[in-house]
Amino acid sequence: ITVSALRETAAGERRVAITPEVAKKLRGKGLRVLLERGAGAAAGFPDASYPDAEFADAADVTNQADLLACVLPPDDGVLARLREGSVVVGQLRPHGATARIDMLANRKLTAFSLELLPRTTRAQAMDVLSSQAAVAGYRAMLMAAENSPKFFPMLTTAAGTIRPSRVLVIGAGVAGLQAIATARRLGAQIEGYDVRPETREQIESLGAKFLDLGVSAAGSGGYARELTAEERAAQQQALADHLKVFDAVVTTAAVPGRAAPKILGTSMVEGMKPGALIVDLAAESGGNCELTRPGERVEHGGVTILGPLNLAAGAPLHASEMYARNIYNFAELLIRDGALRPDFDDELVAKSCLVRDGEILFKP
Ligand code: NAD
Repeated sequence: ITVSALRETAAGERRVAITPEVAKKLRGKGLRVLLERGAGAAAGFPDASYPDAEFADAADVTNQADLLACVLPPDDGVLARLREGSVVVGQLRPHGATARIDMLANRKLTAFSLELLPRTTRAQAMDVLSSQAAVAGYRAMLMAAENSPKFFPMLTTAAGTIRPSRVLVIGAGVAGLQAIATARRLGAQIEGYDVRPETREQIESLGAKFLDLGVSAAGSGGYARELTAEERAAQQQALADHLKVFDAVVTTAAVPGRAAPKILGTSMVEGMKPGALIVDLAAESGGNCELTRPGERVEHGGVTILGPLNLAAGAPLHASEMYARNIYNFAELLIRDGALRPDFDDELVAKSCLVRDGEILFKP
């Protein structure tokens, strides 16, 4: 069996789906690892760092791959060239991707989209949403610190005492909790907020304060549900009063398969301190702030709103190491007794499968 990865082609993408460490483990299982030349270079893994892989150009890799691992969805040209019966594994961004899913089916491929893995204990080792969200949360808080006109920590100096920045994280999932931990390490005074009640303990265990706005909305599968109109109004009212004190706000709120909830309205932003900063990690799915423009920097009445895209690609070496381990752990469910035989009785395999031998299984 040939396991492959190509150089990612999305703008700004620097991660790679197979690292030298994982190439070695795959080879140890008797598999052949075939990569596109330069596949890992942007992540900090030049070809010479892969003693266990072979290299070829993109067309040859695609023609020979039995299992193609990717970070982001491969482009149509790649899907058109893969052999019938090959398997694609990665973040295939299935929601709203009807054309791509049809293409996978028409080409009689099998495709697994790791965003669809259930968030169970056993799935943790292959949970790309978690591993990449941790990177994004860390980077979002660094971005907040770097763009803030203030210091994050308290400083006692001969030139006087600097008070620590007050930072709020909205949405305390994997990214939000990592953002909180990062702000703590930088010495800020930090509060966290989420609609899932269990996050209170998680926020507090990181040494942050839980901001209680009196709205609770636990959904299914460990995710939040969408708020009702009344809940949303109550949340905004309570939040507007609190926002005035913060120097930086990092937002990460998301509901799977939906546009990001709009939590920070324009008038709320207008009530913030001059010089305050919002880093909207939900920019990719529309943003948690009404004023966010994905990929851009917006100045509004003295408040800066940043809407960074694909933050995980900004720390590509560690992001790739974690991602590739996720891929390896998932591949173990697909390759059994030396053959590519996914175990469809396993819910992790069944639930993450978009297309099986050309049959579309994904139900949005
Ligand atoms: P996510 O990216 O889907 O959402 C981020 C956060 O936004 C969530 O905590 C959510 O509750 C919050 N949110 C949604 N709407 C909001 C609103 N209107 N206001 C405020 N906050 C809002 O979440 P995620 O980071 O992918 O994690 C989702 C859940 O899965 C979490 O409970 C996480 O702990 C859990 N999880 C479990 C495992 C596991 O056990 N295997 C692994 C990873 C994550």
